[in-house]
Amino acid sequence: MAKEHTHYIGGQHVKGKSGRFGDVFNPTTGEVSGQCPLASKSEMEAAITVAEQAFPGWSQTSVVRRSRIMMKYLELCNAHQDELAKLLSAEHGKVFEDAKGSVQRGIEVIEFAIGISHAMKGEFSDNVATGIDMYSMRKPLGVCAGITPFNFPVMVPMWMYVMAIACGNTFILKPSEKDPSVPLRLAELFEQAGLPKGVLNVVNGDKQAVDAILGDARVQAVSFVGSTGIAKYIYAASAANGKRCQAMGGAKNHMIVMPDADLNKTVDALIGSAYGSAGERCMAISVAVAVGDVGDKLVEMLKPRVEEIKVGPSMDPASEMGPLVTRAHWEKVKGYIDLGVKEGAELVVDGREVNIQGYENGFFMAGSLFDQVTADMKSYQDEIFGPVLQVMRADDFEQAIRLPSLHRYGNGASIFTADGDAAREFADKVQAGMVGINVPIPVPLSFHTFGGWKDSAFGGINQHGLEGVRFWTKIKTVTSRWPSLITPGADFLIPTLK
Ligand code: NAD
Repeated sequence: MAKEHTHYIGGQHVKGKSGRFGDVFNPTTGEVSGQCPLASKSEMEAAITVAEQAFPGWSQTSVVRRSRIMMKYLELCNAHQDELAKLLSAEHGKVFEDAKGSVQRGIEVIEFAIGISHAMKGEFSDNVATGIDMYSMRKPLGVCAGITPFNFPVMVPMWMYVMAIACGNTFILKPSEKDPSVPLRLAELFEQAGLPKGVLNVVNGDKQAVDAILGDARVQAVSFVGSTGIAKYIYAASAANGKRCQAMGGAKNHMIVMPDADLNKTVDALIGSAYGSAGERCMAISVAVAVGDVGDKLVEMLKPRVEEIKVGPSMDPASEMGPLVTRAHWEKVKGYIDLGVKEGAELVVDGREVNIQGYENGFFMAGSLFDQVTADMKSYQDEIFGPVLQVMRADDFEQAIRLPSLHRYGNGASIFTADGDAAREFADKVQAGMVGINVPIPVPLSFHTFGGWKDSAFGGINQHGLEGVRFWTKIKTVTSRWPSLITPGADFLIPTLK
């Protein structure tokens, strides 16, 4: 029996009232495991009212108390890490240990947020003019919202709501309708940690729910992570409605392989970063650029490794790669492999058809490897978001660095080399927001910030770290003096230093 999921509003599980539902799948079996309610405009507005009512109390809660609730939340999330990863795997399809790692990366944001009292400290200048002091403080914005993708249903929501709530805001999370279980559980645990009801609300839905957020004047800031088309739409609508917005989009991450790179280590790195989580990571390496004469050897070494990847059920410890999230996504990825063949790229390993005994209806796909990919191919220009690695060739470093730099996406880029000069120049010049040097997936930790360039991110401020604090607060600057120091008489001139 498919489970009927709920929303979580004002500290309660609330049944969907719109009569609209989205199918949630178990990607391993292909069965429908649940029905996700898709909120109507009025359901979303009711949740925003709850968050609005919770704001005065929460924003006045001392920063030390907020930090202590984070400490308790950290304890609970650590204690429930396996349970959270299991819920995630069951609806996303990524293998359990990888799901656990992604839960850990979310938990690290709580670790950072425990220090919110330090991160929110203001500035003070005494005696900026005779008897006048000036200070600034960071204030929460009010009701804030986060709209998140299917591929990291713990980590990405935590980038947003943990930071926003630590800063004193109340929050509406509109998670992906493809894997709703784990965000609902995260909200329950937060309340168990002492978070007052109504501070974090999870409202499931699709475009209707998102449009209700964008159109509601009470929502002050919107954070989005997902595909580029939707990111652009959300950024534009937020700006038109006077909301602060950060909107992260798609990716096509390149790894430059220099002739002096250790090929054994490079191949290990490529296999993990291209095929881990079945390539459904915004920081997956999807293009390897072989420089000089390294290409033939690289492809020769990659081929058997791609063929050997163990594809299987998410909860089987022997599986290295689980299924894709839905049949529709499987079709999309297959369509891009078909297109690559049509465009003339050489399909060295074809992972389109794979039969996993006992799981014939699961959304499984094995790893695919393309060689001789060129920049004019649409299958190169677009994000595939599946277990597909495309190998390109470049004569030299200059030609190689132009590929990620000229690509429309600029999330991450990495270089494998033993040459410090090349590494330094790459880090300096490549047009991407996150750079790896002999590190394939350079995902910054929570005390740095996450964000890409070009069509991978809209809005100037990154996720989490001190950038997160800046995004989720506004500055108020106070100029103050005691009455005894006021000189009598009206002053018609703009104040200048005296
Ligand atoms: P998606 O854009 O389809 O969905 C993301 C969110 O937007 C979901 O909550 C969804 O319900 C909502 N949405 C979908 N269609 C909408 C519409 N027409 N109007 C308003 N809202 C809509 O993305 P996805 O398939 O869930 O996730 C995969 C994408 O996310 C990939 O492109 C991946 O690169 C990207 N991603 C980016 C980052 C990053 O930090 N740059 C991180 C993770 C994932």
